[in-house]
Amino acid sequence: MKLPDSFNLAGRRALVTGSSRGIGAALALALAEAGADVMIHCTGNASAANGVADQVRALGRRTGFVQADLSADDGARRIHDASVAALGGIDILILNASVQIRKNWTDFTRADLDAHYAVNYRASFELLQLAVPAMITARWGRVLTVGSVQEIRPHPEMLAYSSFKHAQTGLVLGLAKQLAPHGVTLNNLAPGVIVTDRNADALARPGYADKVRSSIPAGRLGYPADCVGAALLLCSDAGAYITGQNLFADGGLGLA
Ligand code: NAP
Repeated sequence: MKLPDSFNLAGRRALVTGSSRGIGAALALALAEAGADVMIHCTGNASAANGVADQVRALGRRTGFVQADLSADDGARRIHDASVAALGGIDILILNASVQIRKNWTDFTRADLDAHYAVNYRASFELLQLAVPAMITARWGRVLTVGSVQEIRPHPEMLAYSSFKHAQTGLVLGLAKQLAPHGVTLNNLAPGVIVTDRNADALARPGYADKVRSSIPAGRLGYPADCVGAALLLCSDAGAYITGQNLFADGGLGLA
Protein backbone atom coordinates (compact mmCIF):
# COMPACT_ATOMS: atom_id res chain seq x y z
CA MET A 1 0.00 0.00 0.00
CA LYS A 2 1.37 3.43 -0.97
CA LEU A 3 1.83 5.89 1.89
CA PRO A 4 -1.03 8.30 0.99
CA ASP A 5 -3.33 5.28 0.50
CA SER A 6 -2.66 4.14 4.06
CA PHE A 7 -4.40 7.31 5.30
CA ASN A 8 -7.31 6.97 2.87
CA LEU A 9 -10.58 6.27 4.67
CA ALA A 10 -12.80 5.78 1.63
CA GLY A 11 -15.52 3.25 2.45
CA ARG A 12 -15.04 3.57 6.23
CA ARG A 13 -17.92 4.72 8.41
CA ALA A 14 -17.19 6.85 11.45
CA LEU A 15 -19.09 8.09 14.48
CA VAL A 16 -17.62 11.06 16.34
CA THR A 17 -19.42 11.94 19.57
CA GLY A 18 -19.63 15.63 20.39
CA SER A 19 -18.89 16.63 16.79
CA SER A 20 -21.08 19.74 16.61
CA ARG A 21 -18.12 21.97 17.47
CA GLY A 22 -14.59 22.20 18.81
CA ILE A 23 -12.24 19.24 18.57
CA GLY A 24 -15.01 16.80 17.62
CA ALA A 25 -16.05 18.88 14.62
CA ALA A 26 -12.42 19.15 13.45
CA LEU A 27 -11.94 15.40 13.77
CA ALA A 28 -15.21 14.65 11.95
CA LEU A 29 -14.29 16.94 9.05
CA ALA A 30 -10.77 15.52 8.85
CA LEU A 31 -12.12 11.97 8.62
CA ALA A 32 -14.52 13.10 5.90
CA GLU A 33 -11.70 14.82 4.02
CA ALA A 34 -9.78 11.54 4.19
CA GLY A 35 -12.74 9.77 2.59
CA ALA A 36 -14.90 8.48 5.46
CA ASP A 37 -18.65 8.79 5.85
CA VAL A 38 -19.21 10.47 9.21
CA MET A 39 -22.08 10.59 11.69
CA ILE A 40 -22.34 13.87 13.59
CA HIS A 41 -23.58 14.00 17.18
CA CYS A 42 -24.55 16.74 19.61
CA THR A 43 -26.56 17.03 22.77
CA GLY A 44 -28.33 20.37 22.31
CA ASN A 45 -26.70 22.38 19.56
CA ALA A 46 -28.61 20.95 16.60
CA SER A 47 -27.96 23.87 14.27
CA ALA A 48 -24.19 23.61 14.76
CA ALA A 49 -24.34 19.83 14.25
CA ASN A 50 -26.35 20.28 11.07
CA GLY A 51 -23.77 22.79 9.88
CA VAL A 52 -20.96 20.25 10.34
CA ALA A 53 -23.06 17.58 8.60
CA ASP A 54 -23.53 19.99 5.69
CA GLN A 55 -19.76 20.39 5.44
CA VAL A 56 -19.32 16.60 5.43
CA ARG A 57 -21.90 16.36 2.65
CA ALA A 58 -20.13 19.08 0.69
CA LEU A 59 -17.04 16.88 0.74
CA GLY A 60 -19.08 14.22 -1.04
CA ARG A 61 -19.46 11.89 1.95
CA ARG A 62 -22.53 10.35 3.50
CA THR A 63 -23.53 11.72 6.87
CA GLY A 64 -26.31 12.04 9.39
CA PHE A 65 -26.83 13.70 12.68
CA VAL A 66 -28.15 12.52 16.01
CA GLN A 67 -29.00 14.54 19.08
CA ALA A 68 -28.68 12.67 22.38
CA ASP A 69 -27.52 13.39 25.91
CA LEU A 70 -24.90 10.85 26.87
CA SER A 71 -25.99 11.10 30.49
CA ALA A 72 -29.42 9.70 29.56
CA ASP A 73 -30.08 6.03 30.19
CA ASP A 74 -30.48 5.31 26.48
CA GLY A 75 -27.99 7.93 25.19
CA ALA A 76 -25.29 5.54 23.95
CA ARG A 77 -27.82 3.14 22.42
CA ARG A 78 -29.62 5.94 20.56
CA ILE A 79 -26.40 7.31 19.10
CA HIS A 80 -25.23 3.86 18.05
CA ASP A 81 -28.53 2.86 16.47
CA ALA A 82 -28.91 6.18 14.63
CA SER A 83 -25.36 5.84 13.24
CA VAL A 84 -25.95 2.30 12.02
CA ALA A 85 -29.28 3.36 10.49
CA ALA A 86 -27.67 6.31 8.67
CA LEU A 87 -24.36 4.79 7.57
CA GLY A 88 -24.91 1.01 7.75
CA GLY A 89 -22.29 0.46 10.46
CA ILE A 90 -19.43 1.95 12.47
CA ASP A 91 -15.82 1.16 11.53
CA ILE A 92 -14.28 4.11 13.36
CA LEU A 93 -15.51 5.21 16.77
CA ILE A 94 -14.23 8.46 18.26
CA LEU A 95 -15.39 9.01 21.84
CA ASN A 96 -14.91 12.75 22.08
CA ALA A 97 -17.86 14.27 23.99
CA SER A 98 -17.34 15.09 27.63
CA VAL A 99 -18.59 17.25 30.46
CA GLN A 100 -16.26 19.31 32.62
CA ILE A 101 -17.42 20.87 35.88
CA ARG A 102 -15.05 23.26 37.56
CA LYS A 103 -15.12 23.74 41.33
CA ASN A 104 -13.07 23.06 44.43
CA TRP A 105 -12.93 19.29 45.02
CA THR A 106 -14.61 19.65 48.40
CA ASP A 107 -17.66 21.22 46.72
CA PHE A 108 -18.39 18.49 44.16
CA THR A 109 -21.91 17.15 44.62
CA ARG A 110 -23.18 13.65 43.98
CA ALA A 111 -24.92 15.03 40.87
CA ASP A 112 -21.61 16.48 39.58
CA LEU A 113 -19.88 13.14 40.04
CA ASP A 114 -22.75 11.25 38.42
CA ALA A 115 -22.63 13.57 35.38
CA HIS A 116 -18.90 12.96 34.89
CA TYR A 117 -19.36 9.22 35.35
CA ALA A 118 -22.30 8.97 32.95
CA VAL A 119 -20.95 11.07 30.07
CA ASN A 120 -17.19 10.67 30.35
CA TYR A 121 -17.02 6.98 31.27
CA ARG A 122 -20.26 4.97 31.25
CA ALA A 123 -21.35 6.12 27.79
CA SER A 124 -17.87 5.35 26.41
CA PHE A 125 -18.02 1.85 27.89
CA GLU A 126 -21.50 1.28 26.48
CA LEU A 127 -20.62 2.61 23.01
CA LEU A 128 -17.67 0.20 22.96
CA GLN A 129 -20.00 -2.67 23.90
CA LEU A 130 -22.37 -1.66 21.12
CA ALA A 131 -19.90 -0.91 18.31
CA VAL A 132 -16.91 -3.22 18.77
CA PRO A 133 -18.57 -6.63 18.09
CA ALA A 134 -19.23 -5.63 14.46
CA MET A 135 -15.61 -4.42 14.14
CA ILE A 136 -14.43 -7.83 15.36
CA THR A 137 -16.64 -9.55 12.78
CA ALA A 138 -15.28 -7.25 10.06
CA ARG A 139 -11.70 -7.84 11.33
CA TRP A 140 -11.11 -4.06 11.08
CA GLY A 141 -11.91 -1.34 13.57
CA ARG A 142 -10.51 1.83 15.08
CA VAL A 143 -11.43 3.29 18.45
CA LEU A 144 -10.06 6.63 19.59
CA THR A 145 -10.95 8.05 22.97
CA VAL A 146 -10.28 11.72 23.55
CA GLY A 147 -8.60 12.16 26.90
CA SER A 148 -6.74 15.15 28.27
CA VAL A 149 -3.35 16.36 29.38
CA GLN A 150 -5.15 16.53 32.73
CA GLU A 151 -4.62 12.77 32.97
CA ILE A 152 -1.07 13.67 33.99
CA ARG A 153 -1.41 17.40 34.85
CA PRO A 154 -4.72 17.60 36.73
CA HIS A 155 -6.26 21.04 37.20
CA PRO A 156 -6.93 21.56 40.93
CA GLU A 157 -10.56 22.53 40.24
CA MET A 158 -11.36 19.65 37.85
CA LEU A 159 -10.69 16.57 39.96
CA ALA A 160 -13.76 14.64 38.76
CA TYR A 161 -12.94 15.45 35.13
CA SER A 162 -9.29 14.38 35.32
CA SER A 163 -10.21 11.20 37.25
CA PHE A 164 -12.77 10.07 34.70
CA LYS A 165 -10.42 10.85 31.81
CA HIS A 166 -8.03 8.42 33.53
CA ALA A 167 -10.83 5.89 33.79
CA GLN A 168 -11.69 6.24 30.11
CA THR A 169 -8.05 5.72 29.14
CA GLY A 170 -8.23 2.60 31.29
CA LEU A 171 -10.72 1.22 28.76
CA VAL A 172 -8.14 1.64 26.00
CA LEU A 173 -5.38 0.06 28.03
CA GLY A 174 -7.63 -2.74 29.25
CA LEU A 175 -9.11 -3.71 25.90
CA ALA A 176 -6.30 -3.12 23.39
CA LYS A 177 -4.61 -6.47 24.03
CA GLN A 178 -7.88 -8.41 23.77
CA LEU A 179 -8.88 -6.77 20.51
CA ALA A 180 -5.51 -6.64 18.72
CA PRO A 181 -5.86 -10.17 17.27
CA HIS A 182 -9.12 -9.05 15.64
CA GLY A 183 -7.69 -6.10 13.72
CA VAL A 184 -9.25 -3.58 16.10
CA THR A 185 -7.02 -0.90 17.61
CA LEU A 186 -7.82 1.34 20.59
CA ASN A 187 -5.87 4.45 21.46
CA ASN A 188 -6.31 7.61 23.49
CA LEU A 189 -5.55 11.08 22.17
CA ALA A 190 -4.82 13.50 25.00
CA PRO A 191 -5.06 17.16 23.96
CA GLY A 192 -3.45 20.00 25.86
CA VAL A 193 -5.04 23.44 26.00
CA ILE A 194 -7.06 23.66 22.79
CA VAL A 195 -8.99 26.86 22.07
CA THR A 196 -12.71 25.93 21.88
CA ASP A 197 -16.02 27.16 23.30
CA ARG A 198 -15.24 25.19 26.45
CA ASN A 199 -12.39 27.40 27.59
CA ALA A 200 -13.26 30.63 25.74
CA ASP A 201 -14.46 32.41 28.88
CA ALA A 202 -11.46 31.35 30.98
CA LEU A 203 -8.97 32.32 28.26
CA ALA A 204 -10.66 35.71 27.87
CA ARG A 205 -9.93 36.61 31.50
CA PRO A 206 -7.19 39.26 31.72
CA GLY A 207 -3.76 37.67 31.87
CA TYR A 208 -4.99 34.07 31.92
CA ALA A 209 -4.15 33.15 28.32
CA ASP A 210 -0.62 34.53 28.76
CA LYS A 211 -0.18 32.54 31.96
CA VAL A 212 -1.32 29.33 30.25
CA ARG A 213 0.83 30.05 27.17
CA SER A 214 3.91 30.48 29.34
CA SER A 215 3.41 26.97 30.76
CA ILE A 216 3.36 25.35 27.30
CA PRO A 217 6.83 24.41 25.98
CA ALA A 218 5.69 24.99 22.35
CA GLY A 219 4.92 28.57 23.37
CA ARG A 220 1.38 28.76 22.04
CA LEU A 221 -2.15 27.57 22.72
CA GLY A 222 -3.45 24.66 20.65
CA TYR A 223 -6.29 24.66 18.11
CA PRO A 224 -8.59 21.80 17.08
CA ALA A 225 -6.49 21.38 13.91
CA ASP A 226 -3.56 20.41 16.15
CA CYS A 227 -5.41 17.19 17.05
CA VAL A 228 -6.22 16.13 13.51
CA GLY A 229 -2.94 14.57 12.31
CA ALA A 230 -2.64 12.21 15.25
CA ALA A 231 -6.28 11.21 14.95
CA LEU A 232 -5.96 10.41 11.25
CA LEU A 233 -2.94 8.24 11.94
CA LEU A 234 -4.71 6.32 14.70
CA CYS A 235 -7.97 5.90 12.72
CA SER A 236 -6.46 4.68 9.43
CA ASP A 237 -4.44 1.78 8.04
CA ALA A 238 -1.34 3.88 8.66
CA GLY A 239 -1.87 3.24 12.38
CA ALA A 240 -2.68 -0.47 12.08
CA TYR A 241 0.26 -1.49 14.26
CA ILE A 242 -0.36 1.08 17.01
CA THR A 243 -2.70 0.09 19.82
CA GLY A 244 -3.09 0.68 23.53
CA GLN A 245 -1.25 4.01 23.34
CA ASN A 246 -1.87 7.34 24.99
CA LEU A 247 -0.71 10.06 22.59
CA PHE A 248 -0.46 13.65 23.81
CA ALA A 249 -1.17 16.54 21.44
CA ASP A 250 -0.27 19.22 23.93
CA GLY A 251 2.74 21.21 22.74
CA GLY A 252 4.73 19.54 25.50
CA LEU A 253 2.50 20.71 28.35
CA GLY A 254 2.46 17.24 29.90
CA LEU A 255 6.23 17.02 30.04
CA ALA A 256 7.69 17.27 33.51
P1 NAP B 1 -16.65 21.58 23.43
O1 NAP B 1 -16.25 22.62 22.45
O2 NAP B 1 -17.11 21.96 24.79
O3 NAP B 1 -17.73 20.62 22.73
C1 NAP B 1 -18.26 19.59 23.49
C2 NAP B 1 -19.03 18.64 22.59
O4 NAP B 1 -19.58 17.60 23.41
C3 NAP B 1 -20.20 19.31 21.89
O5 NAP B 1 -20.40 18.67 20.65
C4 NAP B 1 -21.37 19.04 22.83
O6 NAP B 1 -22.63 19.04 22.17
C5 NAP B 1 -21.01 17.64 23.32
N1 NAP B 1 -21.56 17.33 24.63
C6 NAP B 1 -21.44 18.08 25.76
N2 NAP B 1 -22.11 17.52 26.77
C7 NAP B 1 -22.69 16.40 26.27
C8 NAP B 1 -23.55 15.41 26.81
N3 NAP B 1 -23.97 15.44 28.08
N4 NAP B 1 -23.96 14.40 26.01
C9 NAP B 1 -23.56 14.35 24.73
N5 NAP B 1 -22.75 15.27 24.15
C10 NAP B 1 -22.33 16.28 24.92
O7 NAP B 1 -15.46 20.55 23.71
P2 NAP B 1 -13.94 20.53 23.20
O8 NAP B 1 -13.19 21.57 23.91
O9 NAP B 1 -13.91 20.46 21.72
O10 NAP B 1 -13.48 19.13 23.80
C11 NAP B 1 -13.64 17.92 23.09
C12 NAP B 1 -12.96 16.81 23.88
O11 NAP B 1 -11.59 17.14 24.08
C13 NAP B 1 -13.56 16.59 25.26
O12 NAP B 1 -13.52 15.22 25.59
C14 NAP B 1 -12.59 17.34 26.17
O13 NAP B 1 -12.60 16.79 27.47
C15 NAP B 1 -11.29 17.09 25.46
N6 NAP B 1 -10.27 18.08 25.78
C16 NAP B 1 -10.45 19.40 25.47
C17 NAP B 1 -9.45 20.30 25.76
C18 NAP B 1 -9.56 21.77 25.45
O14 NAP B 1 -8.66 22.53 25.86
N7 NAP B 1 -10.58 22.21 24.74
C19 NAP B 1 -8.28 19.86 26.41
C20 NAP B 1 -8.13 18.53 26.70
C21 NAP B 1 -9.14 17.64 26.38
P3 NAP B 1 -23.46 20.45 21.99
O15 NAP B 1 -22.72 21.23 20.92
O16 NAP B 1 -24.81 20.03 21.55
O17 NAP B 1 -23.45 21.12 23.32
